[in-house]
Amino acid sequence: MSKIIEPLRGVHDVLPAQIAAWQHLERITRQVFASYGYEEFRVPVIEQTQLFKRSIGDFTDIVEKEMFSFVDQGEDHITLRPEATAGIVRAVISNGLLRDGRLRVWCMGPMFRRERPQAGRYRQFHQVDAEAFGFEGPDIDAEMILLSARLLKLLGLRGVSLKVNSLGTPASRAVYRDKLTAYFTAHAESLDEDSKRRLTGNPLRILDSKNPDMQRLIAAAPLLIESLDAESREHFESLCAQLRGAGVEYHVEPHLVRGLDYYTRTVFEWTTDQLGSQSTVCAGGRYDGLVAQLGGVDTPGIGWAMGQERIVMLLEKQNLEFSKRRPQLYLVLVGEQTGIPGLQLAEQLRDAWPDLSLQINLGGGSFKTQFKRADKSGAEFALVLGDDEAARGVVAVKALRREMAQEECPVERISERIGNLLGLKKGGERNHG
Ligand code: ATP
Ligand code: MG
Repeated sequence: MSKIIEPLRGVHDVLPAQIAAWQHLERITRQVFASYGYEEFRVPVIEQTQLFKRSIGDFTDIVEKEMFSFVDQGEDHITLRPEATAGIVRAVISNGLLRDGRLRVWCMGPMFRRERPQAGRYRQFHQVDAEAFGFEGPDIDAEMILLSARLLKLLGLRGVSLKVNSLGTPASRAVYRDKLTAYFTAHAESLDEDSKRRLTGNPLRILDSKNPDMQRLIAAAPLLIESLDAESREHFESLCAQLRGAGVEYHVEPHLVRGLDYYTRTVFEWTTDQLGSQSTVCAGGRYDGLVAQLGGVDTPGIGWAMGQERIVMLLEKQNLEFSKRRPQLYLVLVGEQTGIPGLQLAEQLRDAWPDLSLQINLGGGSFKTQFKRADKSGAEFALVLGDDEAARGVVAVKALRREMAQEECPVERISERIGNLLGLKKGGERNHG
């Protein structure tokens, strides 16, 4: 026997037994975005490496050490997307979607970062992502946050909290950056290696350090909010007033910065205390300069991304139950001559009821074996077609989970009978996914 091939480090399979939570998340995601009038956008998983270098910033964890980058046979420099915003901004520009000046979109899919794998931190993970372009005022900031709040609420999650902050404009940030550089330079002996490197590259990123030894120094650092320009302050206060008006609880976290360089003004994060150190489940902010930085017409933007693995972990932790999709019918086929009539019967039922889930017994087996399989499938009813039934043009219907005498039904009336028994609707209505 040849050696089995292991999965790569930090990637995971979603097994059929785990799919219910994922489908719940995907279904609610679609529903919530539709309810805010956002359209789905699908962009490539591979992009030119340059795109991420130019947008995310050189002194970020992602660009410094987490990107899966390679040169392909045609010698293109390619990177597996580590996040969705850069690709969406690229796509919005390359497809000329900003001609109307405004756009609200979302996407969902896999992202890739070469980080140290641990619970809640993978090398291939998935994000739900929201982006809006062309909105200057804080009303979109509020809408984006409300949307994420509603999504978390409809998912049924408890114990998540919202932190907000403002990073100001590039100009006010430059003022703050100088203050911060002075502060950290004065305490250079207490900085860890990463922070020393960031001190010259991007001192704001020191605030995002996860090193526990750095936290005291960070806590005493000057506050960004004190360096805010008047307009950014007004923008931030208006956002906070809207959040209060909509009844969304939040905390202003003066040292909240984001791991990516492109953010301006509003930044926010949803965190939970239930996932250990991988506590952020959703994060985002405004990126007013990014579209221009990537060659588009200067257009403000804002977005957020939610880590789907962390959400699923929370759903599992909170023991939320999701309805499993089971077949409703299991077709038992015994006898030599039942293969083709069995297929025809199954297709007839599927034609009649697009929402019906029916599993056919494949590969034969005794009556007893097939009934065991029918039971295990979770189906409500077994339909039984043997040579005798086929010859007489009938099907036996046997309830597997309720009291009901076994009955026989003529093939031409079986669709109607099944529709009644299962309460199916013409044209199909069952919620898929
Ligand atoms: P962290 O501080 O946890 O590294 P980040 O700032 O790098 O997060 P973002 O780039 O803002 O994360 O991504 C948004 C969300 O995507 C995160 O809040 C998290 O829920 C999820 N996420 C990020 N990286 C990973 C990963 N490697 N594995 C699983 N989920 C992730
Ligand atoms: Mg990270």
